Amino acid sequence: MNERKDKERDDEKEEVAEMFSFDDEEEVFIDYVCVDCGCVDPVPDFIVGECSYELEPGESPVFVCPECNGDLVRKKEPAEE
Ligand SMILES: [Zn+2]
Repeated sequence: MNERKDKERDDEKEEVAEMFSFDDEEEVFIDYVCVDCGCVDPVPDFIVGECSYELEPGESPVFVCPECNGDLVRKKEPAEE
């Protein structure tokens, strides 16, 4: 039975690819804005991604405002025309 071995090899490959993509990743920031004081605090995209695992698709995690400890929410993208 080779089935089991192939599966293990695939898992290993995925792990390595993940590590490499992490190293090579450019820092992308997503604008977060505080609902209380309005300050903007860009959050690195990968942190947003890490915090999004338990959320529904399309939802964004909420962070804490560094200025007033208020809710820091993802800034709305300008509406596309
Ligand atoms: Zn604030």
